[in-house]
Amino acid sequence: MLRPVDLLRKKRDGGEHSREEIASLVNGYTAGQIPDYQISAWLMAVLLKGMSRVEIAALTDVMLKSGAVMDLSQIPGKKVDKHSTGGVGDKTSFILISIVAAGGLTVPMISGRGLGHTGGTLDKLEAIPGFNVNLTTEQFLKTLKACGCAMIGQTAEIAPADKKLYALRDVTGTVESPALICASIMSKKLAEGIDALILDVKTGSGAFMKQKKDAVHLAQLMVETGQQMGKRVAALITNMDQPLGATVGNALEIMECIEIMRGEKNPLSADLIELSLQLSAWMFYLTGKTNSVAVGLELAQEMLDTGKALNKFRELIRLHGGGDISVVDKPSRLPHADHKIDFKSPSDGYISGMQCEQIGVASLVLGGGRQKKEDSIDHAVGLVLHKKVGDAVKKGDALCTVHYNGGPESENKLANAMEILGTSYSFQPTPPAAVPTLIQQVIGGE
Ligand code: URA
Repeated sequence: MLRPVDLLRKKRDGGEHSREEIASLVNGYTAGQIPDYQISAWLMAVLLKGMSRVEIAALTDVMLKSGAVMDLSQIPGKKVDKHSTGGVGDKTSFILISIVAAGGLTVPMISGRGLGHTGGTLDKLEAIPGFNVNLTTEQFLKTLKACGCAMIGQTAEIAPADKKLYALRDVTGTVESPALICASIMSKKLAEGIDALILDVKTGSGAFMKQKKDAVHLAQLMVETGQQMGKRVAALITNMDQPLGATVGNALEIMECIEIMRGEKNPLSADLIELSLQLSAWMFYLTGKTNSVAVGLELAQEMLDTGKALNKFRELIRLHGGGDISVVDKPSRLPHADHKIDFKSPSDGYISGMQCEQIGVASLVLGGGRQKKEDSIDHAVGLVLHKKVGDAVKKGDALCTVHYNGGPESENKLANAMEILGTSYSFQPTPPAAVPTLIQQVIGGE
């Protein structure tokens, strides 16, 4: 093994690592041969000095190969997935997985839990009574074969180096490095054994990348890294200055997705529907299922309009440990909170902006997310929005309805959420010149 101290000195002084050096550090750490303090110093050097494209590709490959790459060769046809960098009310996964699998592709989706103010796909799925996100690899493959899609959490076999490095980054102030984020995300996604990947890179007040230029930089790194590994990859840079759709909170978000797939029309869900269709269209295009994104969009719309996507979602629930499929016909069977209260507009005018991260935090403090790692989630709580940016409001109109549960901390949680909401909306007397554009840029895809 190369001496870790020499390698971290090299990065500290702005040097470029060879693949062998990166493998020595990452594999040595994963095997428990290099201590946390040396890797912490190296991670900080990477954060401060950056990595070249070649180093990032090598790091991604070493992390990917630290575990198993799923062998999906026994499943015919193309495999494709989507990754989002995380947002508030971001629930496209449930709609697009149903659309894309109904359209004939295989979607082996490995997802995460809520991080910070953002919601997590696994937490939302667990709002469905009986839904099991912890399938074994064998069950995962069986589900994929049976219905063309499956949704699980990261297993011990998938990119173990990332699991260990991510935990260390979380407590050493080194999460924010674009090189490390890129390698972390791409190593896990490429371990799914996919042919193509669409990335939804969020920017705005509810995203981790608040500035568009940072989102574009990260997207470029991830697209190039995926392409170098022989995959077809594209990224959409999408707006996260307000929550996506009409709900924030686990069961409420699942309910909104089911309603959309049932054809129920809520104008506040328009952005969510548009983004889910666009991401699906790109998944059809990147795998060659359609020869353009425009034709992909027609196919996606057809899967939604004919109810085939809804049927696929029903099948997905049934095959994940016998989840309660009756929620598809009766979404009211999802967990619901004991109490509701409207958060009202303090003034007349137009909503000029929403502090999207704060709105995510309001749902989190009600119990919809974790404040500490060991916290359990209250799936029923959250927010139902009635107004979004650009809407006219009168003083006293409900801007959103807060769904909350009783219990010892109930009054404090509610007061905290209401206080946060009180600072989350801004108003102006005239209509805002423009509401944020949802899809701001496309990167890659060639
Ligand atoms: N999500 C990941 O999986 N990894 C990161 O580094 C950041 C977000």
